Amino acid sequence: MKITDVEALYLKLPEIDASRCDGTQDTLIVRVRTDEGIDGIGEIDSVPVVARSVIDAPPSHAIAAGLKDLLVGEDPFEVERLWDKMYMGALYYGRTGPVLHAMSGIDIALWDIIGKAAGRPAAQMLGGMYRKEIKAYASLLMPDTIAEAAKLAETYIGLGYKAIKFGWGPIGRVSKSFDIELVRTLRSVIGEKHDLMIDVGHVWDVKHAIRMAGEFERYGVYWVEEPLPPDDLSGYRQLSEASGLYIAAGEQESGRRAFDRLLREGGIDIVQPDLGRCGGLTEGRKIACMAYDRNRKVVPHAFKTGILVAASAHYATTMPQGDLIEYTRSESPLARHVVANPLSFKDGYIRLPDGPGLGIELDESVVKKYLVK
Ligand code: MG
Repeated sequence: MKITDVEALYLKLPEIDASRCDGTQDTLIVRVRTDEGIDGIGEIDSVPVVARSVIDAPPSHAIAAGLKDLLVGEDPFEVERLWDKMYMGALYYGRTGPVLHAMSGIDIALWDIIGKAAGRPAAQMLGGMYRKEIKAYASLLMPDTIAEAAKLAETYIGLGYKAIKFGWGPIGRVSKSFDIELVRTLRSVIGEKHDLMIDVGHVWDVKHAIRMAGEFERYGVYWVEEPLPPDDLSGYRQLSEASGLYIAAGEQESGRRAFDRLLREGGIDIVQPDLGRCGGLTEGRKIACMAYDRNRKVVPHAFKTGILVAASAHYATTMPQGDLIEYTRSESPLARHVVANPLSFKDGYIRLPDGPGLGIELDESVVKKYLVK
């Protein structure tokens, strides 16, 4: 089998509010085509036009090439070698950031092809499935008021979710008492049985974070996410050592070396690679092994369409410790309708599809509607 084309499809809502931290307003889908008629689908979480250029760019020289040029004519089954070929072929402008993001979507599409060609789920091709159902937490952007958040929490617990996360918006940006009141209110709304997580969107410093971690622990917060800027590794280390609260981070990182630093120097507890950004399923598996060896949990970050949800579910099930994924509840039509057959959700759990590859198909009419040339 040979790769014949790598298409980057930029989808965007007609109106977007770029001041919001909402990645479901646009996306970049990758479709890898082969000479045997099997296509693979992947998704990239980046600035879509930048990542599209990384794929489409004509080659400049031996270590400054566009990714499509490096892949056409190659066998998609040689996924590890192709990952390295892309990494080395784009070394001059890559090693992290947009090149790794673009590689991530392509890598997901290659595993989709491998699964489809074998007639088996991608997770089996990645090494096997520890479970068929994975807890999916409702991931919500924090509204302006605590009362609105309480209402949303009530709704999602009513829909069967066992875990819920609020992030960004006013969290960490109003006052200490706002954050404490938010957590106190949410805990009283969702009860003791369900997990509550808070994503601070990296606006605290380490001393404030240590004080707040103590407050959050009183209300049984499961984890606090990105309390500090991503480069404050010594801060993460101090916070982890000072607090019993689980500290989660990793969505900003690309490539296993960055995750090694986060684990080794930052000492974080919950590792959150985004498969559309960290280097795809191939690199994600290496990151998962690193975390497993240190007895740390991996919960993939995902705030895009049903493609990334499917990739995250396949990924999580291949890990002994992978029993939870992020499930964006954004109302964006991209998040809700790009995949024609999204993974089924019931009583707080997402079920792995039985179909080959990722087990999903695009709704071509939705793709066409939001496609930007
Ligand atoms: Mg986050």
